[in-house]
Amino acid sequence: MKLKTRLIIAFLTIMLLPGILFGVFGVCIINRQVESIQEEYTMDVDLYDIFTNPLALLNRLTRGTYNQISLTANESPKKFEENDYLKELDESLESNFSFIILRKDNDIIYNGSKKNEDIEKYLPEFSNYSIDVEGGFYIEANSPFLLKQQDFYYNDGSQGSIFIITDVKNLIPEIKHSIIQLLLSYVFVSLLTAIIVVYWLYYSIIKPLNVLKVATSEITKGNLNYSIEGDPKDEIGQLCIDFEAMRIKIRQLLESQLENESNIKELVSNISHDLKTPITAIKGYSEGIIDGVADTSEKQEKYIKTIYNKVNSMSSLVDELMLYSKVENNQINYQFSKLNIDSFFKYCIEELSLDLEVENIKLSYENNLSEQVFIYADPEQLRKVINNIISNSVKYIKATEGLIHIKINEEGPFILISITDNGIGISADDLPFIFDRFYRTDKSRNSTKGGSGLGLSIAKKVVIDHQGKISAVSKEGEGTTIYIELKKYKEVNNE
Ligand code: ADP
Repeated sequence: MKLKTRLIIAFLTIMLLPGILFGVFGVCIINRQVESIQEEYTMDVDLYDIFTNPLALLNRLTRGTYNQISLTANESPKKFEENDYLKELDESLESNFSFIILRKDNDIIYNGSKKNEDIEKYLPEFSNYSIDVEGGFYIEANSPFLLKQQDFYYNDGSQGSIFIITDVKNLIPEIKHSIIQLLLSYVFVSLLTAIIVVYWLYYSIIKPLNVLKVATSEITKGNLNYSIEGDPKDEIGQLCIDFEAMRIKIRQLLESQLENESNIKELVSNISHDLKTPITAIKGYSEGIIDGVADTSEKQEKYIKTIYNKVNSMSSLVDELMLYSKVENNQINYQFSKLNIDSFFKYCIEELSLDLEVENIKLSYENNLSEQVFIYADPEQLRKVINNIISNSVKYIKATEGLIHIKINEEGPFILISITDNGIGISADDLPFIFDRFYRTDKSRNSTKGGSGLGLSIAKKVVIDHQGKISAVSKEGEGTTIYIELKKYKEVNNE
C-alpha cells in the first residue's frame, strides 16, 4: 500500500473511529444507566429527559407521594396531625433522597430531615396555591433542594403547608456516573485509536525502515550477503527492493573486480609462459648459429626457419593479445552492414581453401536456406570468428583424412551455423570452459601447434556483440561442432 494511502487511512481512522466507538460505548453506558435508574427509583425514564430536562425527571421521583399528600390535603387534612402517618410518608420518600416538612401557621410541626433545619427558613409562604407534580421550587439552602408544596386548612382553620423536599445533591448518582463513564470511555476510545494507528504505522513504516537500517549497517561492515525483501506495492518496500538491487550490483562489481585482479595475474603468468617457450627456442637456435653448432648451410637454414616460425607464432600471439584487449575494453569499432550469408561463407571458404588443401583437409559446405538470407553484421569481425573456429579444427584434426563441414540452417527468425570437424574432440570436463579466456585443454597445451586460449573467448564476445549465441558439442575421439546462432536481418529493425 502506498505511503499516501496509509496516511489517508490513518487520518480517517483518527477522525472517524473515536466517534464511532464513542457512540457505541455512549449508547451502551446510557442504556445501562437508564435501566439502573428505572430499577433503583421504580420510574419510567425517558432518555431524552435525562439530558434535556433533568428537573422533570427529579420531580417524577416523588410524584406518587405528592399525589397521596394532595388527596389527603383535600379529603382528610386531619391525618397530617398523626405522627405515624407523617413518618410513613417520610419513609416512602427516603429511598429517593427526599423527606417531608409540615408547617402549621408559622410553626414547623414535622421535619423529616433532622439535620436540615436550616432549610426551614427558605420555605415559601402559605399561598393557598399548590405547586403541582411537574412543578417545584429550587432552593439553594446549605445545599441545593427541590421543593414541592401542598397547602391546606386544618379543621381549626389554621393554615397548613406540607413540603416534599428532595436533596438534589445526592440524587440520581447514575447521571453523574454516566458522565464520568462517558468521559472515561472517550479517553479509552482515543487511546485505543491512537494505539491502533501508531501500531499500524509502526509496522508499515518504521519496521521496514529498521530492516533497511540493519541492512545498511551490514553493508557498512562489509557484509554484502545480507539480503532483504520489500513489498513492491509501497514506497518503502520499493526502496528495500532498490536497496537489494544495489547490494547485488555492488557485490557483483566487487566480485568482478576481484576476478579481474586474479585474471590479470593469470594473464601475466600465461603471457610469460607462452612467450617464454618460443623465446627459449629462439635463444637456443641463435646460440647454435653463433657457436657454430649449425655448421652446414642446411643446418643453418633449418635453424633460421625455426627461428622465423617461432617469431611468427610470437607475433600472432601478440596480435591475438592486442585483439583480446580491444574486445575486452569494448574498443572494437564494428562496421555493421547488411550481409548475404551465402556469399559471405563462399568468400570465407575460398579464402581458406588453399591452406586446407595443404593440410589435406576436405571442407564441405551445405546451405539449407530456402531463399537469400541476410544478417546484420561486421563481415571483417565475423570472418575472423569463422577463421578461428576452422583453424582450431585444423589444429586438432589428427585423422589422416581431415573433414570440416559447414552447415547453415534456418530456425525461424534465426540462422544456425554449425562447423563440424572430425578432430580429437574435447572432453566433457573441458567442454564447459573452452569459451573462457586463456582456457586450453591439457592436450592442446602439449600440442606443438600452440595457441593462446584466447581465440574462442574473442569469438564469443564478437558473436554476443552481434546479439547472437555460440556453443559447442564435442565427443572425444570423434570430433567437435561449434554452433553460432545469428538473427536474420529485418528491414524494419535494421537487424
Ligand atoms: P587456442 O588458441 O588454444 O586454440 P581457443 O580459445 O581457440 O584457444 O580454444 C580453447 C581450447 O578449446 C583449445 O585450446 C582446445 O583445447 C579446445 N578446442 C577448441 N576448438 C577445438 C576443436 N575443434 N577440437 C578440439 N579442441 C578444440
